[in-house]
Amino acid sequence: MQHLVSLPVNERHQEAALALVYELLDRLIQAATAPLLGIGIGTPGLMDSANGIVRNAVNLEWENLPLRDLLEQKYNLPTFIANDCHLAALAEYTFGEHKHLSNLVVLKVGRGIGAGIVLQGRLHYGDGAGAGEIGHVVVVKDGARCSCGNYGCLETVASSRAIVQQAQRIAQEKPDSALAHLAEPGEINTDVVLQAFEAGDETVQGLVHEAGLYLGLAVANLVGVLNVRHILIAGSAARFGEALLRPIRETVPSSSLPILAGETNVEIASLGQDIVILGASALLLSSELGLV
Ligand SMILES: [Zn+2]
Repeated sequence: MQHLVSLPVNERHQEAALALVYELLDRLIQAATAPLLGIGIGTPGLMDSANGIVRNAVNLEWENLPLRDLLEQKYNLPTFIANDCHLAALAEYTFGEHKHLSNLVVLKVGRGIGAGIVLQGRLHYGDGAGAGEIGHVVVVKDGARCSCGNYGCLETVASSRAIVQQAQRIAQEKPDSALAHLAEPGEINTDVVLQAFEAGDETVQGLVHEAGLYLGLAVANLVGVLNVRHILIAGSAARFGEALLRPIRETVPSSSLPILAGETNVEIASLGQDIVILGASALLLSSELGLV
């Protein structure tokens, strides 16, 4: 049986963000109608998966947080934790339209940006568990300050949060714009931006296009380094669909070896908004039961 609870992060950090995790788990466990196998968690940030420690999650301001031990002590259930982008790739590999393709990349574009990389049928974690941290590669010289401390990271120009922040600025500066009519600038979120986008707001379409051009550069880098032929876009920005794919597909051949770019398929991931939850389930099933 499936039971879903969601709570907005709303810029909560550190202890307050951890309290949200407890609240989610309390509600889910309360709703359970059968004995629980365990807890599977996808979290942003660098993970020490062997020890269940979040080494660093800049957007939640978590540093060396022993999340697995905290949850196992509190809930007395086996707990498995991995990076959300890595789990998105595990989900597509396990349950997706391209399941069991030996090589694939999922580029997750939400509040942050990161990639999950499956090579030869295995998730590639990297030496410090940071494989795919492409959101913090700088793409704008002297750009905006990023939560990681650097300036001009990909996340600052191409994440859902970056698109929302630019939309808020436009609504503020142009009270007559379609965006400003939909919501107060401070109330604008991804849903409002999507609504304006679907209504044909050209300013918003421009924001999505520009984000896509930057994401295209990231994909070109993935093509050049990995030569993986299936690159799937997930996360809240994937809701922009073809409008986001178009500039990515335009950029890749002009920014990487054209013959390799021509053999690369960039698509929207098949599993929708629950992709990380599905990945966490796959992690739990494979770790506890050896299934999937
Ligand atoms: Zn950064």
